[in-house]
Amino acid sequence: MKKQYAVIGLGRFGSHLARALYDEGNEVIGIDLNEEKVEAYQDSLSQAFIADSTEEASMKSLGLRNFDVVIVAIGDDMESSILTVVLLKELEVPYVVAKALSKRHGLVLTKVGADQVVFPERDMGLRLAKRLMHPNIIEH
Ligand code: ATP
Repeated sequence: MKKQYAVIGLGRFGSHLARALYDEGNEVIGIDLNEEKVEAYQDSLSQAFIADSTEEASMKSLGLRNFDVVIVAIGDDMESSILTVVLLKELEVPYVVAKALSKRHGLVLTKVGADQVVFPERDMGLRLAKRLMHPNIIEH
């Protein structure tokens, strides 16, 4: 079943995630502060918007509570990532996934209400290590 996703932060992680979801036929909007990034993904997502995800009015106007999943793919700016998760849960977004750069960052994201926290660098490192040690195991 196709779903509605919003991806906040179109860096390397967020943009690949958004495109993969869109290419499978889902409705995907991208949101980023950076005008050039938003322009670059305008034609390869359902829609892309220039907005600061820590601003309540902008997030409200995008109607994010009606999306099935919102992914916060902001990493480096930890303050913005945390504030964005707080705001999305206040706006009653049903399922918020957030990217964490460190264990501490992840703990805070969980505390402020993230439904799922992902650690892309850590998880990719672990997966690669397993694949190198067990090359015959097929991953799903
Ligand atoms: P990645 O590791 O995924 O490549 P990155 O290193 O390019 O990410 P990050 O700092 O993790 O950069 O931020 C990802 C994206 O989030 C950037 O494109 C940045 O412009 C965007 N971003 C940061 N803060 C906000 C915000 N408050 N609102 C919207 N977008 C934001």
